[in-house]
Amino acid sequence: MASTEPTIFARIALREIPASIVAETDRVIAFDDISPQAPVHVIVAPKTQEYRNVVELAAGDPELLVELIDVARGVADERTDGQFRLVFNTGAEAGQTVFHVHAHVLGGHLEEGSLGSA
Ligand code: 5GP
Repeated sequence: MASTEPTIFARIALREIPASIVAETDRVIAFDDISPQAPVHVIVAPKTQEYRNVVELAAGDPELLVELIDVARGVADERTDGQFRLVFNTGAEAGQTVFHVHAHVLGGHLEEGSLGSA
């Protein structure tokens, strides 16, 4: 179970922390990453902080995961030429720093070594 302290992303969804919001549904929010690692770098997260990572989300609410991916697709349609990376860092050693499930939509001219490169 996630901490009861609101996460950064929950606070963004509540408009307690400012962010450049690019898409929103009742349950999902998308906003520009504060420290972009690519020309297009958008975070897509459920508004709930109940799930810490994509594995928990897939097990707990697969419909919400599909909705999140649909929002990510819409962002990619608007911001990229249709070629993009969708990255879910899972675990601190994999680079996860915010333990509120989120996808990174990365597009534009992606450089070797940038977040999400193989
Ligand atoms: P993670 O490392 O957990 O996969 O990704 C967390 C991402 O959230 C990082 O790319 C980081 O730049 C971004 N981030 C952290 N704090 C904030 C914030 O307050 N606002 C925004 N817009 N992005 C943030």
